[in-house]
Amino acid sequence: MTELPPEIVARLTRTARLLEPMAQLWEETTLLTDRQREAVDELTRRLADNYPYGDVRYIGQILKPPHPVAWISYAAASLINPNNHALDAGPATSAMEKEVVGDIAEMFGMPQHLGHLTSSGTIANLEALYVARELAPDTVVVSSQAAHYTHGRMSQLLGVTHETIPQDRLGKMDLDALEARLEGGGVGTIVATLGTTSLGALDPVDEIVTLARRYEARVHVDAAYGGFHTLLATTDPCVDPRPFHALPHVDSIVVDPHKHGLQPYGCGSILFSDPTVGRFFAHDSPYTYFTSSELHLGEISIECSRAGAAAAALWATLRALGLDRDGLGEVLSKGRQAAVMIADSVRGSETARLVAEPELDIVCTYAASGSTSEVSRRSESAFKRLQSLGWHVAKLQVNSEWLATADEALIVDSDQTTVLRCCVMKPEHLVVAEEFASTLVDALAPSGSCI
Ligand SMILES: *Cc1c(COP(=O)(O)O)cnc(C)c1O
Repeated sequence: MTELPPEIVARLTRTARLLEPMAQLWEETTLLTDRQREAVDELTRRLADNYPYGDVRYIGQILKPPHPVAWISYAAASLINPNNHALDAGPATSAMEKEVVGDIAEMFGMPQHLGHLTSSGTIANLEALYVARELAPDTVVVSSQAAHYTHGRMSQLLGVTHETIPQDRLGKMDLDALEARLEGGGVGTIVATLGTTSLGALDPVDEIVTLARRYEARVHVDAAYGGFHTLLATTDPCVDPRPFHALPHVDSIVVDPHKHGLQPYGCGSILFSDPTVGRFFAHDSPYTYFTSSELHLGEISIECSRAGAAAAALWATLRALGLDRDGLGEVLSKGRQAAVMIADSVRGSETARLVAEPELDIVCTYAASGSTSEVSRRSESAFKRLQSLGWHVAKLQVNSEWLATADEALIVDSDQTTVLRCCVMKPEHLVVAEEFASTLVDALAPSGSCI
């Protein structure tokens, strides 16, 4: 069992107790029975079984606690518990949802849009592929080998043929392979990923849009992870601006505020560039849409009930920080800078290698060694060594042949190779980037394996 530090668990227990008197809005105060309080206490004890996602030394998966403004806002709104399905179930939070979705569309430079929040990136991508199917029935959806597995799965669910385009050595969709497939005919939709979940790689959306126009395919961009990095594609960019600047020309975009928008889970979003696709969601509900002729969000969404609190939290967060380079962008730029620093240290070391140059804030590394099976062993021991020092990183399986194409000295003696994956997505990571990088490089060195 993983264990949060005892002082953190104690703080969580105290926090839950402090919340008790405030837990209802229609009562002056709340008093739990002993049995109820014991249940909450038991909960906080059981929550000890978690990795310390909020700790600066947690550099593992795409996980971090929400911004305080998001958490307070979510908690406050959930005392009312509005439902953004219909306007009579949550007028205030439905209005907030339309505002934040408008702000996100503006961030991407979309000239017009139709969109809404979703419970997750998965549902948002499902809606994008559903609309793709309705607009171009009996055509194929293609996504890169490095795209999220959800595209294959959701295509299956929708009864749509899905094909995979190989990735290049940087983890991006291979454009030659894409063009060859487009020439073959029958492709209706290209899914481009901005920020792959494994490496944080950016598919060349600009070039994909050009190809898509030539072959009359639609472009859906899965920017669940990297969409908010658009804020860094400015005049002094710290990410490659080209794929982001093509976003005004794509057909749909998914971005997850619960990944890089500082939100608690339960907040994805989908935006379509053609507002008339709302017709594919048309339905009649005898018991839902009474209060106004204005748009009810449930009328353009596959999901019915959805937390109005999620919209409230995102709305307040964006208002507090600003959805611009100096606001949320500044938060993201710290992680990006930390990734660049870590990559510089790895590149400058004798003992570690980069799987690919990081494009956002995910850095994947491995030990410089003779064979892929040795690389995997060294990743395992470095993972444990880092853990013993209080650092949490993640492991990633990559295809060994693919890894070796950029490392001539590497002998391929296994199908897959384990490498280390570091998500430096908290701004505090910038403060510890140098210390972490030297610890990482040491852990990957041959002596680091002798523990
Ligand atoms: C996380 C992610 C998804 C899935 O989104 P959920 O919010 O986890 O459902 C899809 N695509 C990409 C690129 C992602 O990073």
